[in-house]
Parts: sequence; C-alpha cells; structure tokens
Amino acid sequence: MSVLECDVAVIGAGTAGLAAERAARKAGAKTLLIDDRFAGTTCAAVGCMPSKLLIAAAKAAHNVRRASAFGIAAGEPVIDGHAVMGRLRKERDAFVSATLKTISEIPPGICIRQRARFTDDGTLWLADGRHVSAKAFVVATGSRPSVPKVFDGLERYVITNENLFEMHTLPRSVAVVGAGPLGLELAQALARLGVETEVFEEKERLPGVPDAEVSKAVVSQLGAEFPLHLGVELKPQRVGHLARISWSGSSSGVKDFERILVAAGRPPELSDLNLGATGLATDQRGIPKFDSSTMQCSESAIFLAGDVDGQRPVLHEATLEGAIAGKNAAAFPNVQKHRRSVPMSIVFIDPPLATIGEPTAEGVIGAASYAEQGRAKVEACNTGLIRVFADRSSGAVRGAVLFGPGMDHIAHLFAWAIERGETAAHMLRLPFYHPTFEEGLKPALREICERVKAPEVRDSDDVDPPGT
Ligand SMILES: Cc1cc2nc3c(=O)[nH]c(=O)nc-3n(C[C@H](O)[C@H](O)[C@H](O)COP(=O)(O)OP(=O)(O)OC[C@H]3O[C@@H](n4cnc5c(N)ncnc54)[C@H](O)[C@@H]3O)c2cc1C
Repeated sequence: MSVLECDVAVIGAGTAGLAAERAARKAGAKTLLIDDRFAGTTCAAVGCMPSKLLIAAAKAAHNVRRASAFGIAAGEPVIDGHAVMGRLRKERDAFVSATLKTISEIPPGICIRQRARFTDDGTLWLADGRHVSAKAFVVATGSRPSVPKVFDGLERYVITNENLFEMHTLPRSVAVVGAGPLGLELAQALARLGVETEVFEEKERLPGVPDAEVSKAVVSQLGAEFPLHLGVELKPQRVGHLARISWSGSSSGVKDFERILVAAGRPPELSDLNLGATGLATDQRGIPKFDSSTMQCSESAIFLAGDVDGQRPVLHEATLEGAIAGKNAAAFPNVQKHRRSVPMSIVFIDPPLATIGEPTAEGVIGAASYAEQGRAKVEACNTGLIRVFADRSSGAVRGAVLFGPGMDHIAHLFAWAIERGETAAHMLRLPFYHPTFEEGLKPALREICERVKAPEVRDSDDVDPPGT
C-alpha cells in the first residue's frame, strides 16, 4: 500500500482550499492539496464571475430599453444569444486561466488530482488506491447544486449553474426553480436578455431576505419584470421537446418551457467523504460541528473551510476561513481563535439587495424609501427600500437590509460602520456628498436617532439640498 505523508492535507482546491494550503505552507507545514478536477474554482468557472458576466450583458440590454426615459429613442435591443454567451465564456475562461496559473505556481509534488475520502481520522484513501496520512486535515470541498427528485427523468431540460454557462446560445424560455440569491440574479438577467422567464419558489417569502418589508419591495419590483410565483409546488413532465411545469398552491397554472434552471440551493459537498469513519459529531444536515473562530471540528485535527461548512457561502468568507483553517491545521493542536468580521451578502439584482450584520427586530429600525430620492430620480432608477437596525439604548448600528440603487457599494459602508461600533448619530455626522445615493440613507439614520433620543446630530443647515 502506497502512503503519502504530510503535515496538512487539504481536500478541495477551490477558493477556500487554495487559501488553506497557502496559509499552512507559509506556516512551515508540509502540505498536500487534493482535488478531483483542478478545474479552477467554483467562483471563476461556474459561480460569481460567469453569473456577473451574464448580468453585465443584461444590464446593457436594459439600458438600451430604458434610454427612452431620457428622451433617447433606441428601440428594442437586438440580442444575439451566441454573442452574449461567447463573450461570457471568453471572459470567464480568462478568469479560470488566472486561477489555474495560481495553481501551477504551487511547488511540485503538492497537488494531487484525485477524489479523497476518509478511512479514519488520520488517513485518506485516494481513488487511485494510494493513502494519505496527515497530522491535520482541511476539508474544503465546497457545495453542489441540489436538484429535487421531482425532476428525475427530465435531465435533458434541467440546467444548473454548473452547465448554464456552457450553453452556446440563450434558450427561448426558462422556468427558474428557486427564488434565492442565485435564482433571482439569473432570472432577472435572462429575462432582460429576452428569455421568457418565470420563477417558482416553494416558500411564501423570498428565502435569503431576512426582512419582510424589504422582501415585499423586492417581490413587487421583480414581479413587474417576470412572473414570480411564491408558495407553489411543481409537477414537471416532458411534453414533446419541451418541459411542462404545472404548479399549484398560492397560485396555479401550466406552462411549457425550453429549459428548467434549478437554483434550489447548494448543500455542502460531504456526500463522498466518508466522514462517519472520523467519528466527528455532526449536525442534522450532516455537517461536522465546528468552531467558526478556529474552523476546528470539535477537538479533532480536522478543520473546515468555505461553502462546505454551510454557514456563509460567499467568496470573501471562503478565503478567510481557508486562511484560518490552514494556519490552525499547521499549528495543531495549538489552535488560535480569530475574530470573524460582520456578515455581508449581496444579491446582484437590479437594484441590488444587500444584507449586513444582524437585522433583528429586537432593537429600533429606521427605514427610507428610494422612490423620491434625488440622485435616483436623476438616474431614473428611483425605487427601493432600506431598513437599518440599531441597538435600542445606544443607537449603535447592528444590521441593515438594503434594496436600492448602489446598495452593492453602500453595503460596505454599513459593514465598516458596524465593525467600528458606530451609532446612527455618528454615521450622520460624517460627510455626505450631493447628489448621491448615499444621501438616501439619512432619513433611516435620522429615524433611529429620534427613536433612541440621540443628541442633536446636525452640524449643518436643517434643510437638506433638493432631492436628498
Ligand atoms: C452562480 C453562483 C454565483 C455566485 N456569486 C457570488 C458572488 O457574486 N459573490 C460571492 O461572494 N459569492 C458568490 N458565490 C459563492 C462563491 O462562489 C462560493 O462561496 C465559493 O466559490 C466557495 O468556495 P469553496 O472553496 O468553498 O468551494 P469550491 O470553489 O467549489 O471548491 C471545492 C473543490 O473541492 C473539490 N472536491 C469536492 N469533493 C472532493 C473530494 N471528495 N475529493 C477531492 N476534491 C473534492 C471540488 O472539485 C472543488 O474543486 C456564487 C456561487 C454561485 C454558484
């Protein structure tokens, strides 16, 4: 039996695994990085980057359509599906190449292209029959799309983020299953690119929007662009060369689609790891119990990083968790706690939707609509609602759910303010340039100040400039 020995074995060469291997090697550990494909990260190949490229094309089409609002007659855009997907893949492939270049710069002998599974808490079995014995392990195997059983037998029509971007042209019609972040981003982009799109969601509310008021605003805005069916159960079947979706529940109907885009969640990829052999305690989802400040599973030499832990499935967290896990795996058993930053997630719909910190109803809430906001009216994108959550006694900002123009950027202002423990009054005292989307935050911050009876916060004139 051939056994490879190392200090730290990292399973999965995605964003988290690459960061873990780098951190462990930097800490002086002898590392192995095991991945079944080394095909580039999820982010570059089938996630963040290709989805944003599709959204960018959709934005161009949308801007042509809405040019008439400014007195510019451009008419209905002519969308060349082959060209849209061609540009997407060309740019996407460049991002993948950059990732592969990073992997190629890892010193020789570290990367092993194999699938790995545990045989006990100190050994991995590789698909080619070899074994890996390590002092510590980082599991960074990511997540995979979940396709509900009801779509069994319809594989010809079903697409997920794993193969959507391989299509050589845009389909004529798509049923998007799931109104979470991925479903909404892709549905709006496809609809704006001229694809007849309808979204189906089993829950009554949008999953992933932790505030009912903002959720309503999103449903109303997106529902004006494409049918968004919440609280429905689906019965799909094949009819000729199309997929027929029959739905019932809060609404009912029947419609035929060329494709079914399943965006019904991406559970952690743990299925093939044989974690049972490690003796680790797991939660009801099968995820090993771990400490998010160390990424260590119980007291063991096994660490988690990235989407596989089921907690914050976004890129900057995968990178950070990889670095924490790699460093701690190298130092095992002397693991260090790391402070985690405020959670932040952004959904790249138009207008963007962002959730920061802890938006709980326990404190005070300040809200502001963007319907009459000055800069938003200038740009003819005056829609949206923001809700800011603060501590009842101090007015310290704890969280925000933002839906409106520029919120993908403004989200960072809130994340940074929360990190620094700032109050609504403090934020209001900072400069606001005119006219900007940032000015639209003021009514929400002022409402919090009034509710917590913060001392007078205005240094300048009481009257805001027009359209603030
Ligand atoms: C469509 C889409 C859009 C997204 N958009 C954004 C966005 O805009 N912003 C953002 O922050 N995040 C976004 N995300 C999320 C982000 O892409 C992920 O959080 C991040 O890529 C997770 O990285 P990871 O390292 O955990 O997993 P991955 O990059 O998936 O890496 C896991 C690796 O493990 C390997 N592997 C699995 N099992 C085994 C095994 N048994 N043996 C060996 N190897 C194995 C896999 O082949 C893979 O290479 C998006 C995701 C998707 C799907």
